[in-house]
Amino acid sequence: MKKALKEPLDMFCYQCSQTAFGNGCTIQGTCGKKPTVAKLQDNLIFAIKGISAYNNLVNKMGHEDKEINNFLTNGLYTTLTNVNFDVENLISLAIEAGKINLKVMDLLKKANIENFGEPTPSEVEVGAKKGPGILVTGHDLQALEELLKQTEDKGINIYTHSEMLPAHGYPELRKYKHLVGQLGGPWFDQKKIFSNYNVAILGTTNCVLLPKDSYKNRMFTSGVTKLPDVQQIENFDFTPIINKALELGDLEEEKDKKTITTGFGLSTILSLADKIKELVEAGKIKRFFLVGGCDSPIPQASYYREFVKNLPSDTIVLTLACGKYRFNDLDLGDIEGIPRLIDIGQCNDSIVAIELATALCDLFEMELNDLPLTIVLSWMEQKAAAILWSLLYLDKKDMLIGPILPAWANEDITKYLVDTFNLTPIGDPKEDIKRILS
Ligand code: SF4
Ligand code: SF4
Repeated sequence: MKKALKEPLDMFCYQCSQTAFGNGCTIQGTCGKKPTVAKLQDNLIFAIKGISAYNNLVNKMGHEDKEINNFLTNGLYTTLTNVNFDVENLISLAIEAGKINLKVMDLLKKANIENFGEPTPSEVEVGAKKGPGILVTGHDLQALEELLKQTEDKGINIYTHSEMLPAHGYPELRKYKHLVGQLGGPWFDQKKIFSNYNVAILGTTNCVLLPKDSYKNRMFTSGVTKLPDVQQIENFDFTPIINKALELGDLEEEKDKKTITTGFGLSTILSLADKIKELVEAGKIKRFFLVGGCDSPIPQASYYREFVKNLPSDTIVLTLACGKYRFNDLDLGDIEGIPRLIDIGQCNDSIVAIELATALCDLFEMELNDLPLTIVLSWMEQKAAAILWSLLYLDKKDMLIGPILPAWANEDITKYLVDTFNLTPIGDPKEDIKRILS
């Protein structure tokens, strides 16, 4: 039994009536499907889930794209029983998923900017203010905006949590004075943070956890997000959560609050382009690192803090998504006014990082893979899979990935990723830095 737990299954498929022993095909399919095909189908479904998460936000903001919708339908149909057994085609579809994901992230970025303005850096206080509160987690900025409108002049403080932190960078959200700060860090601290602060809580997207009994009567969800025994907000009518926040009463003011900075939009960073060029040419900035993605509670994720902590002072760290919480309390200082830690935003703001990389290519007249830029990814769920394929679609080489290798990558798929893109698993942080900088 122990051995079975340790050894990965070659595959697992139980989608049709021919499934082995009525349970699941685990070595190869009764239909002839081989493990690599099964895993590539799973990978495609994961990328499609990631794209769908972004597309859902885009659609909610009134935008629709035929190419994206067609890809989602065709991609899913491809994984149906007895449709596609072609490894090369399934890899092409994964690469195409990366392209489509770029398109959906771009649409989402444009919709966000259209509605809330382009982000500019904002210092965010972490901790409670005196007064009743509502804590908002997830990625849905539109839900946050509606809540801010409906709570204006009600004496309720609104806080962000996890991936909602970058909301503070958007001028049309920041203008609400009762958007007061942030409580907690990445998604997986929510049981502790939601228990500690006696406020009403709104979960807008992933990542929500099954709530503890101690706070589930003050938790609410909106959109696709749903939890058992937790009230769902319909049509952005936040009356129940507002009433709950007022009923719960005041939080006490916390002393000695720290601040974190978020909201570096593309325009802000590009306004520093001349200075960045000068510093790179003078050898004062040696390399850029994009260290970001999802955070997860597994021990291997401590790598990312150690990695950033050990980077030399002539490097710049760009970050995004909740992986930033591994190190965004570190004071990395600046290089002649250029901050060494630049938080670009949510996971979907990977598109901004990509636009920035393109701008750097123009600035230094270099190809993407010749730039002094290393990408160190952390992944947890399926949006990160879609983003990984976007970077592979752009043919970005030499990326590091962790905290563990995706389980859909068997030996064949890993070999393809290593041979084609030199995608490397994270190792020892100091050794990795030494190798990259040598
Ligand atoms: S589709 Fe093929 S691999 Fe999947 S359950 Fe049916 S027979 Fe097995
Ligand atoms: S970055 Fe990933 S893990 Fe983090 S909250 Fe967003 S979806 Fe969840």
